[in-house]
Amino acid sequence: MGFFTGFKVTFKQIFKPRVTISYPEKKHPKPERFHGRHVLNRYEDGMEKCIGCELCAGVCPAKCIYVRGADNDPNNPTSAGERFGYVYEINYLRCIHCDLCVEACPTEAITESKMFEFSFTNRQDAIYTRQELVVADDGHPKKMPWEDWREGDDLHTSAWMRATSPSGDASYEGVPSWSGELGYGVREPEKGQSVSETDSFEQLPPKGGSKN
Ligand code: SF4
Ligand code: SF4
Repeated sequence: MGFFTGFKVTFKQIFKPRVTISYPEKKHPKPERFHGRHVLNRYEDGMEKCIGCELCAGVCPAKCIYVRGADNDPNNPTSAGERFGYVYEINYLRCIHCDLCVEACPTEAITESKMFEFSFTNRQDAIYTRQELVVADDGHPKKMPWEDWREGDDLHTSAWMRATSPSGDASYEGVPSWSGELGYGVREPEKGQSVSETDSFEQLPPKGGSKN
């Protein structure tokens, strides 16, 4: 009898819609704040946001970030600060994509894209350098030959940073509290961070906090 009960359960499942898809040809859409490969952001004027403070390296539980700061050349600065990330490396053989580095960063320099499908054939490719992590002149992540970028993976690369700000004061609702980005300018608040769906942040009255 137990034998037929088992078949009955199996038979019922045949007519239900499939929950699996044929990966990697098809993929589920990724959530807005998906944690993928990092980027190092630049300001609208092209300056790098990283100031080489090493807070991201200090907070990283996997100890996979290596930063060495250096003083900016006053005549040809790399970042908007006194110092910049002269050496910046992330070892993706260790990274667990927890995003603590993103939350720790005081300048919104490090954030994450949605691209997570990258396989390496050697250790050197797995250790991303500053030159590979800094966004290109269009503000989008640079794409490495071993990475599988899908549509939309390189958009909203600072979404996670925005999810953690502002600090919870209701008077900041709808006011962007992050700085402008190369290729994007000052991005509008995400859905849920706006006062209403129809309000534009330019039209909002002045509030208690800074816009930058
Ligand atoms: S996401 Fe987490 S594990 Fe990866 S580099 Fe940042 S802090 Fe380290
Ligand atoms: S990415 Fe942010 S936290 Fe890390 S060194 Fe640069 S400025 Fe500091």
